[in-house]
Formats: sequence, C-alpha cells, structure tokens
Amino acid sequence: MTPEKLTGIVLSSRNIGETDRRIVLLTREKGKISAFARGAVKPRNPLVSSTQAFTFGEFFVYAQRDSYSLNVVNVIKHFDSFSKDLDKYYYASYMSEVADYYTRENLYAGDELLLLFQSYKALEAGTIGNELVRYIYDWRMLLLTGEYPDTTCCLRCGNKEKLNFFSAKRHGLLCDECANELRGDIVPVLPGTLYTLQYILGVKLQKLYTFTLKPEILDNLKSVSKAYLKEVRNVKFNSESFIDDEGFFKL
Ligand SMILES: [Zn+2]
Repeated sequence: MTPEKLTGIVLSSRNIGETDRRIVLLTREKGKISAFARGAVKPRNPLVSSTQAFTFGEFFVYAQRDSYSLNVVNVIKHFDSFSKDLDKYYYASYMSEVADYYTRENLYAGDELLLLFQSYKALEAGTIGNELVRYIYDWRMLLLTGEYPDTTCCLRCGNKEKLNFFSAKRHGLLCDECANELRGDIVPVLPGTLYTLQYILGVKLQKLYTFTLKPEILDNLKSVSKAYLKEVRNVKFNSESFIDDEGFFKL
C-alpha cells in the first residue's frame, strides 16, 4: 500500500504516552485531519522535529478507520523563530487555533492553508507588527468563510458616502444619518480604517501584508475588529488571553 501525500501545516501536536504523538494537520487536499505519529517522541526519530507545530511540508499518511497514521514528512519550512520569541509564538498559535476552528475534515482547504502560510511568513518577517498581522489574518479568514460585512455602503439606506460608523450586531457600516437614528452597538470608523478593510478584503493574497498603519488607525481597526469578531465567532481561543491587552504579558 502506498501512502497518500498531503500538503499541510501542523496546527497542534501533543504527546501520547512516552513514545507517540498525535497531531492535527491543516491539509490542502483533505482539510483538517488528525494523524497518529508512532515513535515521534523517541530520540533520533526524524518525526520528532517534523511533527512540531508550525511545520509546513508534505505529509505521507495512511488512512485508518477514524484517523490517519503518519509515515514520513518532507519538511518544506519550519517556522522555528516562533519558539524563540514568545510574543510571536502566541500570535502564531492564535492563527493556528482560528484555522482549526474554521476548517473541517474532507473539505478542501487550499485557500485557508495558503493564508495561514503567508500569515506565518508575515509574522516571522516582523516588518508590519504582530498585532496588524493578526487583524489582517482575522478579516481575510472571514472573507474565506463568507462572514465578512459589505464595506461599500450603508447597511440601512445604501448610501455610499459618509460611512463613518460600524455596527457589529447589524454586520456592517452605517452612514452618519442612519447612525444618528439608531441606537446600540455603534462604533466610529475612521476613513483610513474603512479603506484598510476594503483593501484587506479585496487585494491579492501576495499583497496582503505590505502596508502599515498610523497608531490611531490601528487602534480604530482594533475596536471595529474586536466588536465584529465577538459577534460572528463568539469563542475565546486559548492563545487569545496571551495576546490581548488584558493578557498577563502586557501587565
Ligand atoms: Zn444610511
């Protein structure tokens, strides 16, 4: 029997007993799968390093009844810089958790995989700041899942101008007049933030991580993003407490 070749990233990895390991892989061909790596904790076994989180490569697996067994890995890139920088480690873990949340087994996940890979690369490069990488990734993932708001007009009257407000509960933008008449969860949106959102949701993946923001725009993007993510996702990932303002690293 020849093994199946899957291109993917190790989202998470945990030891089972003293010699084996179970990993969760995001693969292009089969979506999110779980694979058992026998002997992956034994010294000198090549699977020791290739089954660690943030490893991108070709995974040769055998299908079993309700899981896969991992045979060989051809590592293309391991993001080992994350283990030397705790801040980046938690941001990368957050991205992995988000990818895990949105993907399923047996559903093609080539776009999610590519997005995750590019986002790890942007985080590793460090040219635009961890926080901005995180929010770009979040919005781009929403684009893939279809949960993104219309960023071109007022959700109530269709006005394409004076779009200075955002309502997370109503999933979109509001013009000045409509925001005036409505109550509830309305946050201001700066023109720079609106342009940033349109850019993130419209640009080619290769150009996604090529800009920086002024502090006030980043702050505004952050408030809009937090409100919206809370509305559409309503889940708290383990890594989130480490990267949010209230995390103990920031105290
Ligand atoms: Zn309106």
